[in-house]
Amino acid sequence: MDRLQQRVARLKGMLDAVELDHRQDMVMRAIVDILDEMALSLAEVETVQSELEEYVQDLDDDLVALEEEMSGEASDGETEREPDETIEIECPHCKEHIRFEENAFLEADQVECPNCHHVIYTDED
Ligand SMILES: [Zn+2]
Repeated sequence: MDRLQQRVARLKGMLDAVELDHRQDMVMRAIVDILDEMALSLAEVETVQSELEEYVQDLDDDLVALEEEMSGEASDGETEREPDETIEIECPHCKEHIRFEENAFLEADQVECPNCHHVIYTDED
């Protein structure tokens, strides 16, 4: 039972403890019944909503996986990916200015100059 339903249940208990005339009692009980139903409906909506959120998250994960798969295939030929952050390095061997995608550079264990093929960066780890 959630907090709201607990509070309605407590309200019902309070209603049993107070003395009201017949009409007041009828009206109060009708109100509490409505609150009770609302709390129950709300709990159902919350359950459905969290199921939907899970479903949407699953869809999103699938979509990301699909996008990764497609961009992997696309990189065989012409890439249409958005450019990542790039960093520019001057090769210490041939002085050529080379641009790397920052992520590719950071993830690589070793980077070589595309111009002279000397290793210009090695992951020290
Ligand atoms: Zn070079």
